[in-house]
Amino acid sequence: MNKHALLSASGAAKWLNCTPSARLEEKIPNRTSNYAREGTLAHTLAELTVNYWLNNISEMDFENQKDELVASEEGQEFFNMEMQEYINDYAKLITDKVKAAKEVCEDTFAELEVKVDFSKWVPDGFGTSDCVIVSDKILEIIDLKYGKGHRVEAAGNLQMRLYALGALEYYGQLYDIEKIRMTIFQPRLSGVQSSDEITVKELLKWAEEVVRPKAKEAFEGKGEFAPSEEICKFCRAKEECRARYDYNLNIFDESPDPLLITPDEAAAVLTKAGDMRGWLDDLEDLVYSALMKGEKVNGYKIVEGRSNRAFADESKVVKAMKKAGYKEALLYEKKLITLTQMEKDFGKKEVAEILKDLIIKPKGKPKLVPESDKRPEMQINEAVIAAFDEN
Ligand code: SF4
Repeated sequence: MNKHALLSASGAAKWLNCTPSARLEEKIPNRTSNYAREGTLAHTLAELTVNYWLNNISEMDFENQKDELVASEEGQEFFNMEMQEYINDYAKLITDKVKAAKEVCEDTFAELEVKVDFSKWVPDGFGTSDCVIVSDKILEIIDLKYGKGHRVEAAGNLQMRLYALGALEYYGQLYDIEKIRMTIFQPRLSGVQSSDEITVKELLKWAEEVVRPKAKEAFEGKGEFAPSEEICKFCRAKEECRARYDYNLNIFDESPDPLLITPDEAAAVLTKAGDMRGWLDDLEDLVYSALMKGEKVNGYKIVEGRSNRAFADESKVVKAMKKAGYKEALLYEKKLITLTQMEKDFGKKEVAEILKDLIIKPKGKPKLVPESDKRPEMQINEAVIAAFDEN
C-alpha cells in the first residue's frame, strides 16, 4: 500500500468536485506544514489516551509511551498541557459514546486508527479513520480534527462518507449494520461536534451513482476543472493551476455599467472574488519561490527586508550597563504572559478555574461577512454605531 492514496478520503471534496485535480496535484511536491505535524502528534496522543481511557493499556504503559511522544521532535515542538486537555475531551467523547452504546448492546466495541479500504468504488482508495464504534445495527465513525482554522460540518461530509464506505465494507461482512453515524469532533473550536446519519442503502446508492463515476474520471485525470474558493485553497496545485488563473482573471468581465456602482453591485463582485485574496497570496508564494531558486521572473526581484536591531549577547549587555553605573533592576521589565500562552502552559480548564471572573471578552467590532456565515447577524443600533465611531 502507498502511504498516500491518489484519491484520498481527506481530499474527496477536491477530486469529487474537480476531477482533474488529483492528477494535477501529482505534479506538485507535497509540503508538510507545521499544522500537519502538530495534527499528527495530536492524533498519536489521542490514540494513546483513548486506549488508556478504554482500559486497553495500563497507566504505566500510557505514561511511558506518552513520555516518549513528548520527548520526540514533534512533542518538543508542539506538546503542551492544553493539547492533553483537548485530547482528554476527545477521549471522554469516545468513552461516553461506547458506554451509552453498551447500555443498549453489550457487545459494542471501539477500534482506533482503523485502516478503511473503499477501493471497490475508488481506485486504490483507502484511508485511516480515527475511531469506529460497532454496535447493534449501527456503526459510528468519529473523526478528530485538531485544527482551529475553520469549522467542519459532518452533514454531507464527503471524507466521512468514504470512511463510512470503507468501514462498512469490512464490518458489514461481520455484523448486521443498517445505519451509519458520522461524527466530527473539533476540541479547539469550543469542543464543537457535529453528526450526520445515513442508511446503508443511501450510502451504497451514493457510492454507485456519484463516487464510482467521479472516481473513475479523477483516476484517469479527466473531467472539468471546477475552481472555487472552498476547494482550491486545499489543492496542491493552487498556485500554478491555470483553470483557477482563468477563472479569477475572467471574474470581472461582467462590469456593471453605471458610473457609480451600488452596494449590491459591490457585494456581487465581492462574492465572486471570494477566492481572489487567497489566490493573490498563492501567486506571491509562487513568484517568491521561483526567485529564491535563482530563476528570473519578469518585473520582480528579492530585496533584503527591514530588520530590527538586537543585542548580540544579553549577558555582556547587562555587564556593560552595570559597569557604566546603571542598576541591574532598571534593565529588566516584568511582563505578564498572554492568556493564550497561559492556557498553553497550564491548561485551558485550570486557567479558567483560577481566573474565573478575571477574564473578560470585549464586544467585537462589526465585521463584513457573506450571508452564508454561521454567526448570527449583529443588531446595528445607535449604541453600536456610537461605540465603534469613537475608535
Ligand atoms: S486549484 Fe482548484 S481548479 Fe485547479 S485543480 Fe486544484 S481544485 Fe481544481
